[in-house]
Amino acid sequence: MKKGLNRRNFIKNSTLGIIGGTFIKKDLISETTEPEKKGEDSKIGAFRTLGRTGFRVSDISIGFSNNTQVMKKAIESGVNYIDTAESYKNQKVVGEAIKGLDRKSIFITSKLEIKKDKSEAGFIKRFNQCLKELDTEYIDCMMVHSAETIEILKTPGFHSAMDQMKKEGKLRYVGVSNHGSNWYKEPKVRMATILNEAVKDGRFDVFLMAYNFIQEDLGAEVIENCIKENIGVTLMKVNPVGKYYVISDRIKKLKAEGKKVHPLYLEGVVRFKKKAANAERFIKKYDLNDPNEISNGAIKFVLGNKGVSSVVCSMNNFDHIDKFVSLSGTKLSEPEKRKLSLYKEGPGQLYCRHGCSECESICPSGIKVSDIMRYNHYFDAHDRQKYAIRKYMSLNGKDAGLCVDCEGYCESSCTYDLPVQGLLSMAHKNLSLG
Ligand code: SF4
Ligand code: SF4
Repeated sequence: MKKGLNRRNFIKNSTLGIIGGTFIKKDLISETTEPEKKGEDSKIGAFRTLGRTGFRVSDISIGFSNNTQVMKKAIESGVNYIDTAESYKNQKVVGEAIKGLDRKSIFITSKLEIKKDKSEAGFIKRFNQCLKELDTEYIDCMMVHSAETIEILKTPGFHSAMDQMKKEGKLRYVGVSNHGSNWYKEPKVRMATILNEAVKDGRFDVFLMAYNFIQEDLGAEVIENCIKENIGVTLMKVNPVGKYYVISDRIKKLKAEGKKVHPLYLEGVVRFKKKAANAERFIKKYDLNDPNEISNGAIKFVLGNKGVSSVVCSMNNFDHIDKFVSLSGTKLSEPEKRKLSLYKEGPGQLYCRHGCSECESICPSGIKVSDIMRYNHYFDAHDRQKYAIRKYMSLNGKDAGLCVDCEGYCESSCTYDLPVQGLLSMAHKNLSLG
């Protein structure tokens, strides 16, 4: 591992994702790759049209950030798309950061979850509260937050409220974000099914969706359809890198603690360790130790898709700005492409595809596998521990603690052959502070 980089730093430094492909000789993958712009003053180098909105957005945009100065600096560097949400509890930070700027030069999206009160009046009240927190006269795009079903997507109260907000000049466009399905015992609805329905629906101008080099299959078709309908596509979860490094550390910790654990839990860990050993082999053999190389490649990979307008990145400090903004306008080189491929073959085998949910219908306890893995991703790779724990607590005990006494049915139905029980057990240790 490179000097100054330990595994934990790898995770903190990488905030993106992976690949699949052929084995190649090490000397072929150590060719020089396209250099990124470096230094405190990195500037956005490319803007893309956000679908039918016609707005020219920076190809790198800012997602969750709780620091006004960091957000201001990102805007100064050319970032002009800000993604927030009612539930992020950071809208006041955004409001502070945009104060005094030409409002028309910034595109702000927020999101509303579809909760119990689905009335038009309820959505209008919450929308106005967002406006107040953002301290602005209008929101560029309000999204349905994490539409998990087609029914949620079409919530009448949300749409009539947004129509009203448009009439009042408080809203310009409507969008949708999606992490995947939560359904249990009901027919499964995959992310692609929901978003393809949103394309057909016609009321959504902008999407925020998961797409990365490990799970190309889940998003590529949706992006193609968005191109046809001129829908703006922004991306999250573009970085599946990092899971392995954190988990392998945790296994060591478990051993060192010498705790008595349930035999079925141990079985899950054993299955996990087999995959981990394979990942370790790949990392050593193909020199995949540089976290920046892999995670930067992951961003360049998604920017290579012409249907993608912007990649939403969590920026919590000034280093994050430099890391992400320096990737604006860059392209994936052939050597980087090969490395991503190798990563997908090795450590990528421990990555739960965001928005997949394929294994959930078989779980007797109705565990939301995909959501739990996503919360753990926030914890591990996005440095958003408090948010991740809060989300996990909201499961009210229907969490991965139940996996300890289970025979691991989900493993047999994981399309990607992941050691699901081991991964969930690790997530539980993180998120329950156990
Ligand atoms: S290990 Fe068992 S309880 Fe946990 S998600 Fe899998 S099937 Fe469900
Ligand atoms: S564990 Fe496998 S099947 Fe289940 S959500 Fe993750 S990738 Fe999909």
